[in-house]
Amino acid sequence: MTTKAVRIHAPGGPEALKYEDVPTPEPGPGEALIKQEGIGLNYIDVYFRTGLYKAPSLPLTIGQEGAGTVVSVGANVSNVQPGDRVAYAGAIGGYATERTIAAERLVKLPDGIDFKTAATMMLQGMTAQYLIRHTYTVKAGQTIVVHAAAGGVGLILCQWAKYLGANVIGVVSSREKAELARANGAAHTIVGYDNLVAEVKRITGGAGVPVVYDSIGKDTFGASLDCLAPLGLMVSYGNASGPVPPVDIGILAAKGSLFLTRPTLATYTAQRADLEKTAEDLFDVVLKGAVKIQVNQTFPLKDAAAAHIALESRKTTGSTVLVP
Ligand code: NDP
Repeated sequence: MTTKAVRIHAPGGPEALKYEDVPTPEPGPGEALIKQEGIGLNYIDVYFRTGLYKAPSLPLTIGQEGAGTVVSVGANVSNVQPGDRVAYAGAIGGYATERTIAAERLVKLPDGIDFKTAATMMLQGMTAQYLIRHTYTVKAGQTIVVHAAAGGVGLILCQWAKYLGANVIGVVSSREKAELARANGAAHTIVGYDNLVAEVKRITGGAGVPVVYDSIGKDTFGASLDCLAPLGLMVSYGNASGPVPPVDIGILAAKGSLFLTRPTLATYTAQRADLEKTAEDLFDVVLKGAVKIQVNQTFPLKDAAAAHIALESRKTTGSTVLVP
């Protein structure tokens, strides 16, 4: 039996993504075989494709996120059974019609969340959860900076932070994206990085913000530090423009005893109990309508290369689903 998968045989551009027949995997002990109904497109997929993040082995089926139905389970699996509707994030091997996965990485989907929404919200949504509830606990009345505010993680952060009573300054690259960020809860928007620091200072009456969520990396690192109030926290959680070069930590002292962290979802959901709590929190805000997942692009799985081109050329907004 075969199934379809998008694999890379070597790192490269979008053309490195090959849509191929691969043997349908058998679930081993502790694993489940799932038939996927949707696969989430994430920037981390680009990092694995280009080689910025090293492939554990080649050829590699990239992709970290999906949703579907359990087909069968291996030995010693008790948390899911065939027929269950499930979703996951952070388990490489996602770009496939059927895949096996460690069953303990699966969460059961509530009835009110459809597969395509689930397929795109687990990674970006659980990331937003830990960023504003754990890395920094965003509180009502605070003003915070969110980069790529019209992107996948960005639109969720805008809505969730507003729900918590915070004022988001959303940074985007176009007026259209600014409108979208505002429609999703951003109180203020800034277009481009040129006047970023001055605008943040203007909006905050010169004070700066207690936290910056920076997913851009290289291009914005310095300016983001300058947006912070003394003792502020710089959360550098992505590299859309390239990785941040090595930092002289003395700069943190010079700019006001700043804090710096480079977090990943993997750490925050490594324990099963943390994964469950994070997913539960996400399901809660989605089911009550406080956060609406914007699935703004749909591509057939076989056109994953076109989806990557759209994401890298900043043409996407919100979330993107690949349909097997
Ligand atoms: P997005 O939908 O946010 O897409 C990336 C956005 O980054 C673009 O739309 C663009 O928005 C902005 N951008 C700025 N500079 C560039 C550039 N040079 N090239 C391309 N895009 C650029 O992607 P995701 O929601 O999937 O991910 C957002 C970020 O969060 C990524 O950096 C990702 O790595 C990170 N991430 C980190 C996680 C973690 O746990 N650490 C987990 C999940 C995601 P604009 O045009 O408005 O500037």
